[in-house]
Amino acid sequence: MKTVAIIGGGFSGTMAAVNLARLCEQPLRVVIINTKRPLGRGTAYSTGRSEHLLNVAARNMSALPDHPGHFVDWLRSRCEFSDVPEDELRELFAPRRVYGDYLRGLLGACMSPIDARCRVQIEAIDDEAVDITVRDGRTAKIDLLGGDGFEADQVVLATGNQAPGSFPSASPLRYDPRYRADPWDEWLSRLPPPGGTVVLLGTGLTMVDIVLTLGEIGWNGKIVAISRNGRLPKSHFRGIAYEDFVPDEVDELGLAGLRRLVQLHCERLKQMSQNSAIAIDKLRPHTQRLWQSLSKEDKEEFLREDAPEWNVTRHRIAVSIHNRMTDALEAGRLQVIAGTIDRLAPGERQIDVVYRDADGSERTTGGDLVINCTGPQLRFTQASLPLFDQLLSKGLVTADELDMGIRVDDRFAAIQSDGMASSVLFAIGPLLRGSLWETTAVPELRVQAMRVAESMLEREPTAVQEHDVIEYYI
Ligand SMILES: Cc1cc2nc3c(=O)[nH]c(=O)nc-3n(C[C@H](O)[C@H](O)[C@H](O)COP(=O)(O)OP(=O)(O)OC[C@H]3O[C@@H](n4cnc5c(N)ncnc54)[C@H](O)[C@@H]3O)c2cc1C
Repeated sequence: MKTVAIIGGGFSGTMAAVNLARLCEQPLRVVIINTKRPLGRGTAYSTGRSEHLLNVAARNMSALPDHPGHFVDWLRSRCEFSDVPEDELRELFAPRRVYGDYLRGLLGACMSPIDARCRVQIEAIDDEAVDITVRDGRTAKIDLLGGDGFEADQVVLATGNQAPGSFPSASPLRYDPRYRADPWDEWLSRLPPPGGTVVLLGTGLTMVDIVLTLGEIGWNGKIVAISRNGRLPKSHFRGIAYEDFVPDEVDELGLAGLRRLVQLHCERLKQMSQNSAIAIDKLRPHTQRLWQSLSKEDKEEFLREDAPEWNVTRHRIAVSIHNRMTDALEAGRLQVIAGTIDRLAPGERQIDVVYRDADGSERTTGGDLVINCTGPQLRFTQASLPLFDQLLSKGLVTADELDMGIRVDDRFAAIQSDGMASSVLFAIGPLLRGSLWETTAVPELRVQAMRVAESMLEREPTAVQEHDVIEYYI
C-alpha cells in the first residue's frame, strides 16, 4: 500500500490528510507527524481561551474550498449557535478554539471513518521529523527525533511558520523566567504581581491576543507594546461591493504600476466616503499572481517600504476586539511605542528593552515579563530548523530568492538544488511565503491542501470558486 507522510499537523497538514481521504480511491496509508502544537489545531487554533477570536468571518472559514458553506453549516449544528440568525452567523468571528474543534472533527471523521468503503487509513505520530533521505528519487525515509523512522512514497512538508526571531542580549535570556521567546508557550504563570510591567515586543495579532487575555483575567499592571511602526492592526468594517480593478495582464505592472493602481482606487474610495482598505482587499484573489510577477528588486522594495502598511491593513481584527484594544489604550493600561528594538539587557530587577525612537535616540523600557511577539523569523536559512538544515544541505529543497521559505512548482512539488521538481517532496502553507506572499490564512491554505492532495494522487484539479469564495465585506 502506498504511504504518504505529512510533516506538520496544523491546518495545512490536517487538511492535506482530509483531502487525501476524500479523494483517494485506492488503498492509501497517511501518517501525520506532528510535534509541539496539538494535532489538528496547530498554532492558531490550539488556544483554550474564548477571547481569542478568528480574524476572518465564519462565511470565509470553510476548510473545504469546494464546500464554501461548510464551516457555517458546522457552526449551526452546535447548540450555542443553532439559534443565531443566518446573516449574523455568516459574519461571526468565532472563537479560535471552536475552529480547532471543527478541524479536529474533520480529521477524526477520517481517522475513524464510519463509511466502510473508505480506503484511506490515517495515523498520527507525536514526534519531530528531523531528516528525510530520498532513495532513487522515488521513496523517502523519514527520521524522527524520538522514535523509529519509517518509509514513505511521498512527503508533504506542512511545518507552518518558523519560530520568532531572537534579539541580541547582554547575557543569554533562554533560561531567564522573565523572558518568553515563544509567545505560544505558557506565560500566565510568569506574570508579575499587580503593578508590574509586561513588555510585548511587536504590535501585531499575537500582541493583541496577549492584551486581551490580560484584560480578561483582570491583571492589574502596565502593558507596553513596541514595534518599528508602533501601529496596531486595523478593524474589519462594513464595506461595499467595489469593481475588480486588477487587470488580467498584471505582468507589466511592476511595483510602481501596482502602487499607482492601488493609490488611484484608495483615492476613489475616499471620495466615496468608503474605507480605502477595500482596495487592498480587492487585490487578495490576485495577490499571489501579482507577487510572482514582481522582480526580486521590486519584492525587496515592497518588503522594506510597503509591507508594514500592508500588514496592518490586510490582517484586520474583529470590531469587538478592536474596541477592547482602544479601551485599553484610552484607559492607559496599554502604551504603544514606535521604536526599533536594539537589544535586551537582563538587569537585576527587570529586563531592559533598549530601542531607538524615530529620532534615532536610544531609549529603554523595563519589563518584569518580556514576551517576544515579533512574528516568525523571516530569514529561512538562518532559522536553524533541524529538518530543513538537512533538506537544504542535501539539495532536496531550495530557499526562495528572498530566503523566506522554499520553492515549489505549481503542483506544490519542492524544487531541488538541481532545478528539478521533486517527485517525492511537496510543500504547502507559510513555508511558501517568499514564493507566493499570501499563503498564511485559511482562504489560501484550504486550496493548497486540496491541490497538493490532487497532485499526489495525479488527479485533475477539482473546480473551486477560488475568487467568488473570497469576499471581504462584513
Ligand atoms: C494566533 C494566530 C491566529 C490566526 N488566526 C487566523 C484566522 O482567524 N483565520 C485565518 O484564516 N488564519 C489565521 N491564522 C493563520 C494561520 O497561520 C493559518 O490559518 C493556519 O493555522 C496555518 O496552519 P499550518 O498548518 O500551516 O501551520 P501551524 O499551525 O504552525 O502548524 C504546523 C505544525 O507543524 C508542526 N511541525 C513543524 N515542524 C515539524 C517537524 N519537523 N516535525 C513534526 N511537526 C512539525 C508544528 O509544531 C505545528 O504543530 C492565524 C495564525 C495565528 C498564529
